[in-house]
Amino acid sequence: MALKEKSISLNLMGLLALEKRLVLEDENHAFIRRKRLSAQAGIGGEEILQRAFKLNKFNHEYEIIHDLHLDANSKFQIDTVYFTPSYVMVLEMKNIAGKVRFEMNPRQMKRTLLSGQVDAFDCPGIQVEKNIMLLKEWLFDRGFDLPVYGAVLFARSSTIFENEPPFKVMFPSELPVYLRKIHQPGKEMDRGTFQLLARELIESHIVFNPFPICRNYKIELEQILTGVECKQCLELGMKKVKKGWICSQCGFIDRHAHRDTLVEWFMLFGGELTNRECRRFLGIDNAQLATRLLEGANLIPYGNNKGRKYGMDLLTFFGENR
Ligand SMILES: [Zn+2]
Repeated sequence: MALKEKSISLNLMGLLALEKRLVLEDENHAFIRRKRLSAQAGIGGEEILQRAFKLNKFNHEYEIIHDLHLDANSKFQIDTVYFTPSYVMVLEMKNIAGKVRFEMNPRQMKRTLLSGQVDAFDCPGIQVEKNIMLLKEWLFDRGFDLPVYGAVLFARSSTIFENEPPFKVMFPSELPVYLRKIHQPGKEMDRGTFQLLARELIESHIVFNPFPICRNYKIELEQILTGVECKQCLELGMKKVKKGWICSQCGFIDRHAHRDTLVEWFMLFGGELTNRECRRFLGIDNAQLATRLLEGANLIPYGNNKGRKYGMDLLTFFGENR
């Protein structure tokens, strides 16, 4: 039973917005790209996992929670938590194609595509180890005494491992047998305690707010490329014309192109947006036009006339505050 469905990944959206507005030469570009690739690789494995569970019947009671965010002295996020009355299993999903190699010192995961392109990812083993440790603390603080295990689940059985991973790695098809093996009958908590644990895990979930993303990665305003993005060719710097915005690269015309760019501004910088900053970011010089665009963009206005500023509640905008 899935107690909670995976929510839209705010972190990934923020990283995408950030990466495309950093020049390739920026000292942070490679780092942000690795973060983005790692976040992207965690998405899309959930259906595969659900299929694996659907095809297998367990004779023990269990619950599954996807995308759980908890706080145990520090905040942590777990892709999937599988738990029974006798143990907890932390699963980190990785949905990546190609050949994978695990490197130590520093620990990272390198992936080579058929084309020869090599990408570096954060080592998922570190994530699992950290999550096991923090979840143990979280359980201990609430008086639950259960062993916590963990594994990295590679969603595609076509992934090739070039060396032996320094942590437990599995394909979804192996998971049911593995889970059945570590279940220990006779060492179970009673039904009431198990249900209490399920409830506490769900109720302790906190909505993770990665915004403003520039602050989290200590990236300055000056490092960020400005301009309205063309949805057709992804070029920045659409020009304002009567009908809306036109791309000088591909000629695409988009009436509301500035709206997504304004949302990006809030994802990147947060706080309050002034008319002046709006003009700088959209690449326009007409203050009245900026006012019109800001007023029509569903933002939260503060103050009057000249001193008017605008805010945005991103969590509500992305449907996270239900
Ligand atoms: Zn274009």
